[in-house]
Amino acid sequence: MGKTLYEKVFDRHAVAELSPGRYQLLMGLHLIHEVTSPQAFGMLEHRGLSVLMPERTFATVDHIIPTKSQLRPFSDSLAEEMMTVLERNVKKYGIRFFSTDKGEQGIVHVVGPERGLTQPGMTICCGDSHTSTHGAFGAIAFGIGTSQVRDVLATQTLAMDKLKVRRIEVTGKLRPGVYAKDVTLAVIGKLGVNGGVGYAYEYGGEVIDRMTMDERMTVCNMSIEGGARCGYVNPDSTTYEYLKGREFSPTGAAWDRAVEYWESIRSDADARYDDVVTLRGEDIEPVVTWGITPGQSIGVNEAIPTAESFPEAERGVVNEAYDYMSLAPGQKIRGTKVNVAFIGSCTNGRLSDFEEVVRLIQGKNFKVKPGVRALVVPGSQAVRRAMIEKGYDRVFEGAGFEFREAGCSMCLAMNPDKLQGREVCASSSNRNFKGRQGSPTGRTLLMSPAMVAAAAIAGEVTDARELFGMG
Ligand code: SF4
Repeated sequence: MGKTLYEKVFDRHAVAELSPGRYQLLMGLHLIHEVTSPQAFGMLEHRGLSVLMPERTFATVDHIIPTKSQLRPFSDSLAEEMMTVLERNVKKYGIRFFSTDKGEQGIVHVVGPERGLTQPGMTICCGDSHTSTHGAFGAIAFGIGTSQVRDVLATQTLAMDKLKVRRIEVTGKLRPGVYAKDVTLAVIGKLGVNGGVGYAYEYGGEVIDRMTMDERMTVCNMSIEGGARCGYVNPDSTTYEYLKGREFSPTGAAWDRAVEYWESIRSDADARYDDVVTLRGEDIEPVVTWGITPGQSIGVNEAIPTAESFPEAERGVVNEAYDYMSLAPGQKIRGTKVNVAFIGSCTNGRLSDFEEVVRLIQGKNFKVKPGVRALVVPGSQAVRRAMIEKGYDRVFEGAGFEFREAGCSMCLAMNPDKLQGREVCASSSNRNFKGRQGSPTGRTLLMSPAMVAAAAIAGEVTDARELFGMG
């Protein structure tokens, strides 16, 4: 019986079995940022320990960084303090820091792949839920808590339970105007936000096979929103082409050896899965969330479902969502007025995300609806530079979008980019929880970057395919 990539990579990194089903796992790469590392470093110091493998530990700053100006000191003294603590810790322990000064800063899940740090067959962890993004390369990557960050800093290992593996096949072809974001929201919509608990998700099928690395990252990024601890795609020529020539990618003979290893860890044709789920690419519509979990979503032309259409156990959260969002069952999501539009985040803040929106709006005299605040926030300084080189900043600004500095921005709003009061935001990010975007009463509608741009222009949720003439 063959094995899945998950099993192969897990077994190769298992140092010891701690108890039945629970293993000590070696971490190939540890990414850290300013929010979850200070306490971990503090605990390390308290115990008189050092960082065991600084050469496998990399840092950046993303959550707290302001996006209007990155000039120091930051006006928020807490943000300035977090930055200072991170700078002190990376210096003290000899950790490579992708800093703003060097033009290397960005969202941790954008920076790792663009530097070539994220590679197939690796185990990767970071004190951030959306570490699952890195699975796009055929890595086993998961978010960890602060005490686990301490454990990895001190031992480069983690205690982990072995997961089951669910294969998610997306067959056929996506229709024009349907994107990777719609695929991942459709998967969560089908399986639920807890459907993946206890599982690693392996994504495959023609739709995934055809995706670029950026698109695979968008899909894997949201695995955690479906309850899966991690999600991955088997590496292939698309993966290798992306990695070739990047700063941390192997070169020469080491590259050939690496590709041989990467090929060897692909799931075997006769691998056994604990579950297999299939979605037809042709059935997926542009998806919009209407509620307070990423699973509460519908196609852009559908009506908000009734509570009765959900299992009994979910109806409480469904009723809570109607109240919080001020939306009613039977109402169309299309036409919902938006106050803010946000294109960015580790889900959809890569160059190709902006490229697609530019393709749709350039030269067509589209303008952001007066009264709508529309933010374009690159996922990294490298993405931002590339956008400026290509003139995308001028396209966005000409259409009435604000073109910002790199960071998490309004995804989590641990920085000055926040919703005000009951504002509704069309967002390309990954979480629509209550208060997620900085206002305790603010409302988030998740969708693809193209759909966010369409909402910004129309001033309401609309079908991007019609507005931009796709199809
Ligand atoms: S963009 Fe959002 S989800 Fe991604 S790392 Fe930043 S805060 Fe977390």
